[in-house]
Amino acid sequence: MSSMLMTAKKQLESALPFANIEEESWERILHPAQIIECSIPCRHDDGTLKIYKAYRCQYDTTLGPAKGGIRFHPNVDRDHIEALAFWMTFKCAALKLPYGGAKGGISVDASKLSHRELERISRLYVDAFHNFLGPDQDIAAPDMCTDERVMGWMYDEYRLIKGGHPRDFITGKPVALGGLEERTSATGYGGYFVLEKILLDYWKQKSIQECTVAIQGFGKVGFWIAEKCWKEGMKVVAISNEYGAAFLETGFNIEECQKILKYTNGKDWNKVCAISGGTIISNQDLLNLNVDVLVPAAMENVITIENAHKIQAKIILELANGPTNNEADQVLNDRGVWVIPDIVANAGGVVVSYFEWLQNRHAEERTHDQIVSGLKEKMQYATVKMMDRHIEKGMSLRTAAYALALKRIGAAKEALGTKQFFCN
Ligand code: NAD
Repeated sequence: MSSMLMTAKKQLESALPFANIEEESWERILHPAQIIECSIPCRHDDGTLKIYKAYRCQYDTTLGPAKGGIRFHPNVDRDHIEALAFWMTFKCAALKLPYGGAKGGISVDASKLSHRELERISRLYVDAFHNFLGPDQDIAAPDMCTDERVMGWMYDEYRLIKGGHPRDFITGKPVALGGLEERTSATGYGGYFVLEKILLDYWKQKSIQECTVAIQGFGKVGFWIAEKCWKEGMKVVAISNEYGAAFLETGFNIEECQKILKYTNGKDWNKVCAISGGTIISNQDLLNLNVDVLVPAAMENVITIENAHKIQAKIILELANGPTNNEADQVLNDRGVWVIPDIVANAGGVVVSYFEWLQNRHAEERTHDQIVSGLKEKMQYATVKMMDRHIEKGMSLRTAAYALALKRIGAAKEALGTKQFFCN
């Protein structure tokens, strides 16, 4: 079992005593419902044929059709996909969405594929898995190294196989095919709405405008949380990406930083500092800054037992998946740091995907304001439910979120008759 999967399952175990679910339901939830593994032969532009490993894991479908992204990355393997599908299951349940959890992917370095090869391999994925995917069965979406363009090709391939216009088969599509503009900023904005609720209604130590934030990662998630925090008047004192990091005590102008980094492929941190007056720091320094809020929004496993005791932030908003390992989580909880868990903090993307799916199903359109206020409502509802459990039972925020999700899945399993079936 990979360390990621072990981390995920250990997190769930700590929630078991608080979830009040039947033993058989618990046994069931420890195992994925289905993992499909295929070899995909893909013809490259130079005429050579390469075989790629591809996967789809439907971890659990008790609450509804499975839902989860498709990742194109060399790290993709069976365990990795299972761990990510597991997280999706609990994320959807914690947010009270009518979905189970899934994830899929191909073990491939997408940056080495030509445009045509990328289109071919995207279509081949659908050819291989179309019998397992579908709007009432398993709904796909983008993930690492796949985007709306890939979703457009996948939708087309599915449509050609199945016929009709099954737009609700996949979310994160181009707007021209029924996708939502708001999906791009959804994870970052969703994270902000969770943070806002915590700061205003629970932490209550400073006004939003007095809070300082350090954000690791400036990609699809990191940029949008930075932009939202900045627009709401928070001081974004540190930002970073894989090429560098910078610090400015008075806070960065995020739009200005974005412009510089966009035109230099994310590489010119000296220019960011020259224009803003900031200083270059390391990504490790960023994690240790004395800020109110730290937002890991890049990779998993960045907060470990080695650096957990050095972290000075009072609140950690986990926008990456699995940024804190279990040992570090324990240290941070013991030190009184509020760790807002990934399964709630970064669920904004799947919430807006749910709106897209609903819209496609009913052939109707929601306004921008309806989508943003719907996102805020769902994120803050989950936050309140998590905080209620945390306050009532004294458990960590992560355990509270898992207990909430586990209880919902367990209740649905029991309502479906598991216990009676096995007793008779
Ligand atoms: P992305 O590829 O768009 O951005 C990743 C960012 O992290 C980039 O700025 C990259 O330069 C930076 N980065 C990479 N290695 C780094 C390093 N060693 N140090 C510092 N920065 C580094 O990816 P994304 O979609 O923004 O996803 C980020 C995280 O959020 C991932 O863990 C992902 O699983 C999670 N997530 C994303 C979404 C979504 O909607 N995109 C939803 C939920 C969770």
